[in-house]
Amino acid sequence: MSHKQAELNDVDAKAFDKLIAGEIFTSTEVQTNLEILCDDLGSRFAGTPAEAEAAQFLEAVLQRYQLNAVHSEPFEYNGWKRGTAKLTVTSPWHRELPCLSMPMSPSGKCTGKIIDLGLGSPETFDISQTELKGNIALVNIANPASAGRWVHRTEKYNRSTLAGAQAFIFVGNQDGYGPITGALGFNRWGLIPGIMVSKETGTLLQRAIRRNASVEVQIETNDTLAKQTSWNIIGDVKGKAANEDMVVIGVHYDGHDISQGAEDPASGLVAGLEVARVLGIHADRLKRDVRFVLFGVEELGLIGAHAYVNNHPEDIEKTRFMFNLDSAGGGGGKGLMVYGRDSRAYFREMGRQMNENLMVDFDASPLREPDHLSSDHYPFMAKGVACGFIRDPYSYTWPGFYHTAHDTVDKVDLLKVKEAAFLCARLAWRIANDDDWHFKQMSEKELAKQKTTPEVSEVQRIENAVEMLRRQTQQ
Ligand SMILES: [Zn+2]
Repeated sequence: MSHKQAELNDVDAKAFDKLIAGEIFTSTEVQTNLEILCDDLGSRFAGTPAEAEAAQFLEAVLQRYQLNAVHSEPFEYNGWKRGTAKLTVTSPWHRELPCLSMPMSPSGKCTGKIIDLGLGSPETFDISQTELKGNIALVNIANPASAGRWVHRTEKYNRSTLAGAQAFIFVGNQDGYGPITGALGFNRWGLIPGIMVSKETGTLLQRAIRRNASVEVQIETNDTLAKQTSWNIIGDVKGKAANEDMVVIGVHYDGHDISQGAEDPASGLVAGLEVARVLGIHADRLKRDVRFVLFGVEELGLIGAHAYVNNHPEDIEKTRFMFNLDSAGGGGGKGLMVYGRDSRAYFREMGRQMNENLMVDFDASPLREPDHLSSDHYPFMAKGVACGFIRDPYSYTWPGFYHTAHDTVDKVDLLKVKEAAFLCARLAWRIANDDDWHFKQMSEKELAKQKTTPEVSEVQRIENAVEMLRRQTQQ
C-alpha cells in the first residue's frame, strides 16, 4: 500500500469511528435486546422453548438490521433435560440437602459413603482410588494449584467415573452464590449421576466427615438424555469487493438454565448485535464481508461453533479473523486476547492508529481436545484461523456469579457492552478494509505442531478410557 493510500484509509477509518461512536453511545438497542433475551425469554438453555424463541428473535433482529442472507442452520446434538435431584444424608444424621443435577448427568439412584477429594488434583484421585469404588466423590470446583495446570470439572468427573464412583458431587467455591453449574461432558452424556451443591452445603458435608469419619448419603437424579436440534443464526454485512475474504464475529446465545445467562453470554451477544447494526448502517464503507454467526449450544460443548466450522470449509478458508464475543460486555477493561497466529504487533499498531492504548496479548495454548479453550473461538483456532477474544487480556477473571443463578441482568453494565461493541466494530472494519492482510489460515503441517503436549495427552487418555467404559456398559 502506498503512503498516500494509507493516509486516505486513516481518514476513512476515523470518519467511520465517529459515525459509529455516535450511533452506539446514543442508542437504546443494547438495553432493549438484553432485556428481551434475559428478562422475557430467560436462560435460553439448549433444548428449551426459550432457546427456540431466542433463535427466532435473533434471526428477526439481523433481518431488521438489514443484513444479507439471514438464515438459521440446524444441527443435531446430545441434549439434556433437567429433572429433579435429591441428596439425602442417611448417616450420621438424616436430612435432605439442597442440590441440582449437573447438565449431561444421567438419571440414577445410589447410596454410598462420601469420599472428600478436596480440589480433585490427579494425585488425590490416585490416592483415593480404592476408597472411591462403589462410593460417592465430593470435589470442589477450585483449581488444585499442585497440579500445575488447569484441571477442568470434566476431568474431575471423568476420574471419578473411572475410579468406579457411583455418583459425583461438585462443590461451589463462592460464598452466597449457590451451586456453580457446567456440563459434565462436551456433547457427551455422563455415565454416573453428577450433582452440584453450594459451598455452604459442601463444607457442611466436609465437617460432618471430619467429626464422624463416615458420612453416607443417598442420591437420586431424574434427568433425560435425548438427541436434540439447535440452530446457528447467520447473517452477512456485504462489503464492496465480491468473493473475497471475510471477517467473522461469533457469539453464543444459549445460557445455563439456572440463571438468565446475562453476562455469560448475553452481554457479549447484544454487543455483537450492536456491531451488526452499525456495520449494517455503514455497509457502503466496508470493503469485505463481515459475517455474524450466533451459535447455539456452546454450554454443552461448543456444539454450534463446531457445526459451523465443519459445514463451511470454503468460508473458513476465506476467514481472515474470528472475533469471539462470549460474555464480552462483562466487567473489566476491554482489550483483545489473540489465538492461533501471533498477531499482537499488528493489533498494537492498530490501537496506536485508533488513538487507543489497546490491550493485546497472545494466548499460546496448544490445541487441546477434548478440554478445549472453553469457548467458541476454539473450533476456528483448530482449523488454523487467527482469532481473538474481546476482554481484558491481562487481568480477566470470571466474576463470582459466573455459571450461578445470580448471573442476572442487573450485573451487566451497559457502558461495558457498548465499549465492547465499539472496539469490535472498529477492529473488524479495519481488518475487513486492510488490503495487506498477513495472518493467513495455518496449514495442516503448522497445526500438527501445535497439537500435543503431555498434559493434553493425559486428559485425552482419561477421556478415551471413559469412552471405552461407555462402550462396555452399553454392550
Ligand atoms: Zn459463554
